[in-house]
Amino acid sequence: MNITIESTKDLLRSRKLKATPTRLEILSALQKRNSAVTFSEIQNICNDTDRVTLYRTIQSFVDKGLIHKAYQSEDEVHYALCSHNCSSEAHFHNHLHFKCTRCKKVTCEYLEEEVKIILPKFQIEKVDITISGICKNCN
Ligand SMILES: [Zn+2]
Ligand SMILES: [Zn+2]
Ligand SMILES: [Zn+2]
Repeated sequence: MNITIESTKDLLRSRKLKATPTRLEILSALQKRNSAVTFSEIQNICNDTDRVTLYRTIQSFVDKGLIHKAYQSEDEVHYALCSHNCSSEAHFHNHLHFKCTRCKKVTCEYLEEEVKIILPKFQIEKVDITISGICKNCN
């Protein structure tokens, strides 16, 4: 898919978000990458925007089903773009996260086949799997 500033604007509007410069900057940065971004990376991209605005922007993206928390390290949260399955109502994720121990990148990895996890007597609400190792770029 070709990502243009117009398609990024349309995506924001489809989630009833005004296309402000900060929102456009963060969302297009995420669209251009194939890995998750940390909060400090977002700060570097939008270095003239204050922390509070950035936090609010990120939170509104999470609420609207545009991005999700992909991974939480000791000091940082990594955010990744959602697929079209996610909406303002709910996130539908059927993928896992891969954390490369060499380049430190976190990516969303979609499985070819759905994996069903069954825990008898437990009611599963969310499955959150992170695998670490060497990614295909580093291998
Ligand atoms: Zn999502
Ligand atoms: Zn790597
Ligand atoms: Zn993900």
